[in-house]
Amino acid sequence: MNDWVKAKVVGRHQWSEGLFSLQFEAPIAPFQAGQYIKVALEIDGERIGRPYSLVNAPGDRPLEIFFNEVPEGPLTPPLSTLGPGDEVWLTPKAGGIFTLETVRPATDLWLLATGTGLGVYLSILRTAKPWRDFRRVILIHGVRQASDLAYAETLAGIARRQGEQFRFVPAVSREEAPGALRGRITDLLAEGRLESHLGVSIHPSTSHVMLCGNSAMIKDVKAILEERGLVRHRRHAPGHYTTEQYH
Ligand SMILES: Cc1cc2nc3c(=O)[nH]c(=O)nc-3n(C[C@H](O)[C@H](O)[C@H](O)COP(=O)(O)OP(=O)(O)OC[C@H]3O[C@@H](n4cnc5c(N)ncnc54)[C@H](O)[C@@H]3O)c2cc1C
Repeated sequence: MNDWVKAKVVGRHQWSEGLFSLQFEAPIAPFQAGQYIKVALEIDGERIGRPYSLVNAPGDRPLEIFFNEVPEGPLTPPLSTLGPGDEVWLTPKAGGIFTLETVRPATDLWLLATGTGLGVYLSILRTAKPWRDFRRVILIHGVRQASDLAYAETLAGIARRQGEQFRFVPAVSREEAPGALRGRITDLLAEGRLESHLGVSIHPSTSHVMLCGNSAMIKDVKAILEERGLVRHRRHAPGHYTTEQYH
């Protein structure tokens, strides 16, 4: 059973068709960048909750989530219609271990996201830890259409602040887009196009890789990483990659 607190929606942004961010004010406990909360609504007399990564840095408010509407899902269609003044339920404590807290410093931190998997990295990138513990931080955001490349201004701000320590590569699979690689993250990695574009390789001696998003990307990239000698990171058995599967 979850505990719940009432939260007020204080902001909403629609990035493209079916792609949204919502901001909340609510008294939740301190959390670590990379963790998620559950968001719930009363639907037909039942409280339906789903986990969402927090996009804001732990010290920043309002709380923020980034999600896409799944038309056949019970929660996201009504969630996407909410606006300032509406109320939702949140779990008062964030959870999850998709954080940098137990990861050993390395040369390169690779952050690979499909779709709304980008959000969790924004929280991490808004803290000091990645910039202190890694020489380079490389973010790859895979989407189908260029219109799904959300948070461009936030990413431009991070690039301005961090300079050459930060590399951002958008990857668009279904159309050509200026400044983006064409293709799925998995294919770009398997064909070597991603690393040759960056001039940086993923290697167990230099890299920690985080994977967030859909199950197909995570499964395929895991296989590529393991072939190259990277092993899953565990709290008590440090390794080279960590995953957070949204669906
Ligand atoms: C730890 C964790 C953190 C998560 N954080 C986020 C987040 O930050 N942002 C986010 O958008 N989602 C996130 N999710 C997924 C989210 O919890 C919901 O599953 C999703 O928003 C759909 O909710 P729903 O109730 O409408 O449909 P559900 O009943 O949850 O799902 C209906 C169907 O749609 C599939 N599905 C779920 N999510 C998606 C999706 N994004 N795109 C396409 N198909 C999907 C499911 O596999 C299922 O088959 C997270 C999931 C987990 C486990």
